[in-house]
Amino acid sequence: MPDILFAASSESWEEYEAPLRRAFDAVGLDARIAPEMAPEEVEYVIYAPNSALQDFTPYTRLKAVLNLWAGVEDVVGNTTLKAPLARMVDPDGLTQGMVEWVTGHVLRHHLGMDAHIVNPERRWDATPPPLATERPVTILGLGTLGQACGAALGALGFPVTGWSRSAKQVDGIRCLHGADGLAEALSGAQIVVLLLPDTPQTENLMDAERLALPAPGAVLINPGRGPLIDDDALIAALDAGQIGHATLDVFRTEPLPEDHAFWAHPKVTVTPHIASTTRPETAALVIAENIHRAETGAPLLHLVDRAAGY
Ligand code: NDP
Repeated sequence: MPDILFAASSESWEEYEAPLRRAFDAVGLDARIAPEMAPEEVEYVIYAPNSALQDFTPYTRLKAVLNLWAGVEDVVGNTTLKAPLARMVDPDGLTQGMVEWVTGHVLRHHLGMDAHIVNPERRWDATPPPLATERPVTILGLGTLGQACGAALGALGFPVTGWSRSAKQVDGIRCLHGADGLAEALSGAQIVVLLLPDTPQTENLMDAERLALPAPGAVLINPGRGPLIDDDALIAALDAGQIGHATLDVFRTEPLPEDHAFWAHPKVTVTPHIASTTRPETAALVIAENIHRAETGAPLLHLVDRAAGY
Protein backbone atom coordinates (compact mmCIF):
# COMPACT_ATOMS: atom_id res chain seq x y z
CA MET A 1 0.00 0.00 0.00
CA PRO A 2 1.82 3.19 -1.14
CA ASP A 3 1.89 6.16 1.23
CA ILE A 4 0.93 9.33 -0.64
CA LEU A 5 1.14 12.88 0.68
CA PHE A 6 -1.20 15.50 -0.80
CA ALA A 7 1.08 18.55 -0.45
CA ALA A 8 -0.76 21.08 -2.54
CA SER A 9 -1.78 24.09 -0.53
CA SER A 10 -3.09 25.96 -3.55
CA GLU A 11 -5.50 23.14 -4.35
CA SER A 12 -7.83 22.00 -1.63
CA TRP A 13 -7.75 18.58 -0.07
CA GLU A 14 -11.55 18.75 0.30
CA GLU A 15 -11.86 19.11 -3.45
CA TYR A 16 -9.45 16.30 -4.26
CA GLU A 17 -9.96 13.71 -1.52
CA ALA A 18 -13.04 11.97 -2.95
CA PRO A 19 -11.86 12.02 -6.61
CA LEU A 20 -8.48 10.62 -5.56
CA ARG A 21 -10.04 7.82 -3.53
CA ARG A 22 -12.35 6.95 -6.44
CA ALA A 23 -9.42 7.02 -8.87
CA PHE A 24 -7.24 4.69 -6.78
CA ASP A 25 -10.22 2.32 -6.45
CA ALA A 26 -10.67 2.49 -10.23
CA VAL A 27 -7.06 1.43 -10.91
CA GLY A 28 -7.25 -1.21 -8.20
CA LEU A 29 -4.55 0.26 -5.96
CA ASP A 30 -4.95 0.29 -2.20
CA ALA A 31 -3.28 3.57 -1.18
CA ARG A 32 -2.96 5.65 1.98
CA ILE A 33 -3.46 9.29 0.93
CA ALA A 34 -3.42 12.16 3.41
CA PRO A 35 -2.68 15.90 3.54
CA GLU A 36 -0.27 15.30 6.43
CA MET A 37 2.18 12.48 6.95
CA ALA A 38 5.57 11.94 8.60
CA PRO A 39 8.18 12.72 5.88
CA GLU A 40 10.01 9.41 6.33
CA GLU A 41 6.79 7.50 5.52
CA VAL A 42 6.00 9.28 2.25
CA GLU A 43 6.54 7.40 -1.02
CA TYR A 44 4.74 9.76 -3.42
CA VAL A 45 3.92 13.45 -3.22
CA ILE A 46 1.03 15.04 -5.09
CA TYR A 47 2.23 18.61 -5.51
CA ALA A 48 0.98 22.00 -6.67
CA PRO A 49 2.57 25.45 -6.73
CA ASN A 50 2.94 27.35 -3.46
CA SER A 51 3.04 24.13 -1.47
CA ALA A 52 4.57 24.58 1.97
CA LEU A 53 6.77 21.59 1.13
CA GLN A 54 10.03 23.03 -0.17
CA ASP A 55 12.67 20.81 1.44
CA PHE A 56 12.46 17.21 0.26
CA THR A 57 15.56 16.12 2.21
CA PRO A 58 13.64 14.35 5.02
CA TYR A 59 11.54 12.42 2.46
CA THR A 60 13.93 9.50 2.39
CA ARG A 61 11.51 6.94 0.84
CA LEU A 62 10.26 9.26 -1.89
CA LYS A 63 9.70 7.49 -5.22
CA ALA A 64 8.17 10.32 -7.26
CA VAL A 65 6.53 13.74 -7.15
CA LEU A 66 3.38 14.18 -9.24
CA ASN A 67 2.69 17.79 -10.10
CA LEU A 68 -0.99 18.71 -10.30
CA TRP A 69 -0.22 21.43 -12.85
CA ALA A 70 1.32 21.29 -16.33
CA GLY A 71 3.77 24.07 -15.46
CA VAL A 72 6.56 22.95 -13.11
CA GLU A 73 8.60 26.13 -12.76
CA ASP A 74 7.99 26.25 -8.98
CA VAL A 75 9.54 22.85 -8.29
CA VAL A 76 11.74 21.88 -11.23
CA GLY A 77 14.80 23.72 -9.89
CA ASN A 78 14.44 22.42 -6.33
CA THR A 79 17.83 20.80 -5.63
CA THR A 80 16.52 18.92 -2.57
CA LEU A 81 14.26 16.90 -4.86
CA LYS A 82 16.14 13.84 -6.12
CA ALA A 83 13.12 11.68 -7.07
CA PRO A 84 11.54 11.81 -10.53
CA LEU A 85 9.06 14.60 -11.21
CA ALA A 86 5.96 14.12 -13.40
CA ARG A 87 3.77 16.94 -14.66
CA MET A 88 0.04 16.99 -15.38
CA VAL A 89 -1.08 15.83 -18.79
CA ASP A 90 -4.85 15.32 -18.78
CA PRO A 91 -6.50 15.24 -22.20
CA ASP A 92 -10.04 15.17 -20.77
CA GLY A 93 -9.55 18.09 -18.37
CA LEU A 94 -6.57 20.42 -18.69
CA THR A 95 -6.05 19.96 -22.43
CA GLN A 96 -9.73 20.20 -23.30
CA GLY A 97 -10.05 23.41 -21.26
CA MET A 98 -7.07 25.00 -22.99
CA VAL A 99 -8.36 24.08 -26.44
CA GLU A 100 -11.69 25.75 -25.63
CA TRP A 101 -10.07 28.90 -24.20
CA VAL A 102 -7.57 29.34 -27.03
CA THR A 103 -10.14 28.63 -29.74
CA GLY A 104 -12.59 31.06 -28.16
CA HIS A 105 -10.09 33.89 -27.93
CA VAL A 106 -8.72 33.27 -31.42
CA LEU A 107 -12.26 33.37 -32.82
CA ARG A 108 -13.08 36.54 -30.87
CA HIS A 109 -10.28 38.38 -32.62
CA HIS A 110 -10.61 36.62 -35.94
CA LEU A 111 -14.31 37.51 -36.22
CA GLY A 112 -13.87 41.01 -34.78
CA MET A 113 -16.61 40.31 -32.25
CA ASP A 114 -15.75 43.27 -30.02
CA ALA A 115 -16.98 45.80 -32.57
CA HIS A 116 -20.48 44.35 -32.41
CA ILE A 117 -20.62 43.52 -28.70
CA VAL A 118 -19.85 47.13 -27.73
CA ASN A 119 -21.30 49.43 -30.38
CA PRO A 120 -22.70 52.53 -28.65
CA GLU A 121 -22.83 54.51 -31.91
CA ARG A 122 -25.04 51.81 -33.50
CA ARG A 123 -22.76 51.60 -36.54
CA TRP A 124 -24.05 49.26 -39.23
CA ASP A 125 -20.68 48.04 -40.51
CA ALA A 126 -21.40 45.02 -42.67
CA THR A 127 -17.76 44.30 -43.55
CA PRO A 128 -17.46 40.51 -43.33
CA PRO A 129 -14.52 39.02 -41.49
CA PRO A 130 -12.06 37.02 -43.58
CA LEU A 131 -12.31 33.26 -43.54
CA ALA A 132 -10.07 31.29 -41.20
CA THR A 133 -8.10 30.09 -44.20
CA GLU A 134 -6.95 33.68 -44.70
CA ARG A 135 -5.75 34.16 -41.09
CA PRO A 136 -2.34 32.62 -40.30
CA VAL A 137 -1.96 31.57 -36.68
CA THR A 138 1.34 30.77 -35.01
CA ILE A 139 1.62 28.77 -31.81
CA LEU A 140 4.90 28.99 -29.90
CA GLY A 141 5.18 25.68 -28.03
CA LEU A 142 4.14 22.47 -29.71
CA GLY A 143 3.78 20.24 -26.68
CA THR A 144 0.63 18.66 -25.31
CA LEU A 145 -1.34 21.90 -25.27
CA GLY A 146 0.17 23.58 -28.33
CA GLN A 147 -0.49 20.56 -30.51
CA ALA A 148 -4.05 20.14 -29.25
CA CYS A 149 -4.83 23.81 -29.87
CA GLY A 150 -3.13 23.60 -33.27
CA ALA A 151 -5.30 20.63 -34.23
CA ALA A 152 -8.49 22.44 -33.18
CA LEU A 153 -7.57 25.64 -35.04
CA GLY A 154 -6.45 23.67 -38.07
CA ALA A 155 -9.78 21.84 -38.12
CA LEU A 156 -11.49 25.25 -38.33
CA GLY A 157 -9.36 26.09 -41.35
CA PHE A 158 -6.67 28.35 -39.89
CA PRO A 159 -3.22 27.85 -41.43
CA VAL A 160 -1.27 26.90 -38.30
CA THR A 161 2.47 27.22 -37.81
CA GLY A 162 4.01 25.77 -34.66
CA TRP A 163 7.39 26.27 -33.06
CA SER A 164 9.21 24.05 -30.61
CA ARG A 165 12.70 23.35 -29.27
CA SER A 166 13.17 20.06 -31.12
CA ALA A 167 12.20 19.23 -34.70
CA LYS A 168 8.67 17.81 -35.11
CA GLN A 169 6.26 16.57 -37.71
CA VAL A 170 2.63 17.13 -36.83
CA ASP A 171 -0.16 16.55 -39.32
CA GLY A 172 -1.79 19.79 -40.40
CA ILE A 173 0.78 22.05 -38.71
CA ARG A 174 3.75 23.71 -40.38
CA CYS A 175 6.44 22.84 -37.84
CA LEU A 176 9.51 24.99 -37.21
CA HIS A 177 12.00 24.68 -34.40
CA GLY A 178 15.00 26.11 -32.64
CA ALA A 179 16.44 29.59 -32.64
CA ASP A 180 16.58 29.63 -36.44
CA GLY A 181 12.90 28.76 -36.83
CA LEU A 182 11.52 31.44 -34.52
CA ALA A 183 11.70 34.45 -36.84
CA GLU A 184 10.11 32.45 -39.65
CA ALA A 185 7.38 31.19 -37.32
CA LEU A 186 6.48 34.72 -36.21
CA SER A 187 6.87 36.51 -39.53
CA GLY A 188 3.52 37.44 -41.00
CA ALA A 189 1.45 35.73 -38.30
CA GLN A 190 -1.84 37.49 -37.62
CA ILE A 191 -2.51 35.71 -34.34
CA VAL A 192 0.27 34.43 -32.06
CA VAL A 193 -0.49 32.04 -29.20
CA LEU A 194 2.13 31.39 -26.49
CA LEU A 195 2.07 27.88 -25.03
CA LEU A 196 5.65 27.62 -23.85
CA PRO A 197 6.84 26.77 -20.35
CA ASP A 198 8.60 29.29 -18.14
CA THR A 199 12.31 28.44 -18.30
CA PRO A 200 15.49 30.53 -18.39
CA GLN A 201 15.51 30.01 -22.19
CA THR A 202 11.96 31.26 -22.75
CA GLU A 203 12.06 34.30 -20.45
CA ASN A 204 11.40 37.54 -22.38
CA LEU A 205 11.18 35.57 -25.61
CA MET A 206 8.61 38.08 -26.85
CA ASP A 207 10.84 41.13 -26.66
CA ALA A 208 10.77 44.24 -28.87
CA GLU A 209 12.58 42.46 -31.71
CA ARG A 210 10.21 39.45 -31.78
CA LEU A 211 7.10 41.58 -31.28
CA ALA A 212 8.03 43.40 -34.49
CA LEU A 213 7.85 40.22 -36.59
CA PRO A 214 4.13 39.34 -36.80
CA ALA A 215 1.90 41.18 -39.27
CA PRO A 216 1.14 44.79 -38.24
CA GLY A 217 -1.86 44.79 -35.89
CA ALA A 218 -1.43 41.10 -35.00
CA VAL A 219 -3.04 39.72 -31.87
CA LEU A 220 -0.94 38.17 -29.09
CA ILE A 221 -2.62 35.58 -26.87
CA ASN A 222 -0.69 34.35 -23.83
CA PRO A 223 -2.04 31.42 -21.83
CA GLY A 224 1.55 30.16 -21.29
CA ARG A 225 3.39 32.07 -18.56
CA GLY A 226 3.89 35.77 -17.79
CA PRO A 227 7.69 35.89 -18.08
CA LEU A 228 7.50 34.85 -21.75
CA ILE A 229 6.71 38.49 -22.54
CA ASP A 230 8.74 41.63 -21.94
CA ASP A 231 5.86 43.69 -20.52
CA ASP A 232 7.30 47.10 -21.39
CA ALA A 233 8.10 46.02 -24.94
CA LEU A 234 4.53 44.75 -25.34
CA ILE A 235 3.04 48.03 -24.16
CA ALA A 236 5.27 49.91 -26.60
CA ALA A 237 4.23 47.56 -29.45
CA LEU A 238 0.54 48.04 -28.56
CA ASP A 239 0.91 51.81 -28.41
CA ALA A 240 2.67 51.80 -31.78
CA GLY A 241 -0.08 49.65 -33.33
CA GLN A 242 2.36 46.86 -34.21
CA ILE A 243 0.41 44.58 -31.88
CA GLY A 244 -3.32 45.24 -32.26
CA HIS A 245 -4.47 43.50 -29.09
CA ALA A 246 -3.05 41.29 -26.35
CA THR A 247 -5.16 38.78 -24.48
CA LEU A 248 -3.18 37.79 -21.41
CA ASP A 249 -4.07 35.07 -18.93
CA VAL A 250 -0.76 34.81 -17.07
CA PHE A 251 1.52 37.41 -15.53
CA ARG A 252 4.85 37.81 -13.80
CA THR A 253 2.99 38.67 -10.60
CA GLU A 254 -0.36 37.03 -9.93
CA PRO A 255 -2.88 38.31 -9.11
CA LEU A 256 -1.94 41.11 -11.52
CA PRO A 257 -1.32 44.19 -9.30
CA GLU A 258 -4.16 46.71 -9.48
CA ASP A 259 -1.85 49.45 -10.70
CA HIS A 260 -0.33 47.39 -13.53
CA ALA A 261 -0.55 49.12 -16.90
CA PHE A 262 -2.19 46.06 -18.48
CA TRP A 263 -5.42 46.61 -16.53
CA ALA A 264 -5.99 50.08 -17.96
CA HIS A 265 -4.69 49.53 -21.47
CA PRO A 266 -7.50 49.67 -24.06
CA LYS A 267 -5.83 47.04 -26.21
CA VAL A 268 -5.27 44.49 -23.46
CA THR A 269 -7.69 41.86 -22.20
CA VAL A 270 -6.76 40.41 -18.83
CA THR A 271 -8.10 37.04 -17.77
CA PRO A 272 -7.16 35.79 -14.27
CA HIS A 273 -5.13 32.64 -15.00
CA ILE A 274 -8.20 30.70 -16.01
CA ALA A 275 -7.23 29.55 -19.49
CA SER A 276 -7.30 26.04 -18.18
CA THR A 277 -7.28 24.45 -14.81
CA THR A 278 -6.66 21.02 -13.39
CA ARG A 279 -10.00 19.25 -12.97
CA PRO A 280 -9.98 17.02 -9.86
CA GLU A 281 -12.04 14.16 -11.31
CA THR A 282 -9.93 13.54 -14.42
CA ALA A 283 -6.59 14.67 -12.91
CA ALA A 284 -7.03 12.20 -10.03
CA LEU A 285 -7.27 9.39 -12.59
CA VAL A 286 -4.04 10.55 -14.26
CA ILE A 287 -2.25 10.59 -10.88
CA ALA A 288 -3.62 7.20 -9.78
CA GLU A 289 -2.70 5.62 -13.11
CA ASN A 290 0.85 6.97 -12.87
CA ILE A 291 1.38 5.75 -9.30
CA HIS A 292 -0.11 2.40 -10.29
CA ARG A 293 2.45 2.23 -13.09
CA ALA A 294 5.32 3.00 -10.73
CA GLU A 295 4.10 0.38 -8.25
CA THR A 296 3.92 -2.27 -10.97
CA GLY A 297 7.35 -1.51 -12.42
CA ALA A 298 6.20 0.44 -15.49
CA PRO A 299 7.95 3.72 -16.34
CA LEU A 300 6.25 6.90 -15.11
CA LEU A 301 4.41 8.92 -17.72
CA HIS A 302 4.87 12.67 -18.34
CA LEU A 303 8.31 12.89 -16.73
CA VAL A 304 9.87 16.32 -16.56
CA ASP A 305 13.34 16.83 -18.04
CA ARG A 306 14.89 18.55 -15.04
CA ALA A 307 17.82 19.94 -17.07
CA ALA A 308 15.53 21.42 -19.72
CA GLY A 309 13.22 22.81 -17.03
CA TYR A 310 9.91 21.44 -18.32
P1 NDP B 1 4.82 20.65 -22.93
O1 NDP B 1 6.02 20.41 -22.09
O2 NDP B 1 4.06 19.48 -23.45
O3 NDP B 1 5.23 21.53 -24.20
C1 NDP B 1 6.11 22.60 -24.12
C2 NDP B 1 6.47 23.03 -25.52
O4 NDP B 1 7.33 24.16 -25.45
C3 NDP B 1 7.23 21.93 -26.30
O5 NDP B 1 6.83 21.91 -27.63
C4 NDP B 1 8.68 22.40 -26.19
O6 NDP B 1 9.51 21.98 -27.24
C5 NDP B 1 8.48 23.89 -26.25
N1 NDP B 1 9.66 24.58 -25.70
C6 NDP B 1 10.15 24.56 -24.45
N2 NDP B 1 11.25 25.30 -24.35
C7 NDP B 1 11.47 25.81 -25.58
C8 NDP B 1 12.46 26.65 -26.13
N3 NDP B 1 13.48 27.12 -25.39
N4 NDP B 1 12.39 26.96 -27.43
C9 NDP B 1 11.39 26.47 -28.20
N5 NDP B 1 10.40 25.67 -27.75
C10 NDP B 1 10.45 25.35 -26.44
O7 NDP B 1 3.88 21.61 -22.09
P2 NDP B 1 2.28 21.77 -22.19
O8 NDP B 1 1.91 21.91 -23.61
O9 NDP B 1 1.61 20.74 -21.39
O10 NDP B 1 2.11 23.17 -21.42
C11 NDP B 1 2.71 24.35 -21.89
C12 NDP B 1 2.62 25.44 -20.85
O11 NDP B 1 1.29 25.92 -20.76
C13 NDP B 1 2.94 25.01 -19.42
O12 NDP B 1 4.33 24.92 -19.18
C14 NDP B 1 2.29 26.10 -18.62
O13 NDP B 1 3.23 27.15 -18.44
C15 NDP B 1 1.15 26.59 -19.52
N6 NDP B 1 -0.17 26.30 -18.95
C16 NDP B 1 -1.00 27.36 -18.64
C17 NDP B 1 -2.25 27.14 -18.12
C18 NDP B 1 -3.17 28.28 -17.85
O14 NDP B 1 -4.24 28.11 -17.26
N7 NDP B 1 -2.84 29.49 -18.26
C19 NDP B 1 -2.75 25.78 -17.86
C20 NDP B 1 -1.82 24.75 -18.24
C21 NDP B 1 -0.57 25.01 -18.74
P3 NDP B 1 9.82 20.42 -27.47
O15 NDP B 1 8.51 19.84 -27.98
O16 NDP B 1 10.88 20.40 -28.49
O17 NDP B 1 10.19 19.85 -26.14
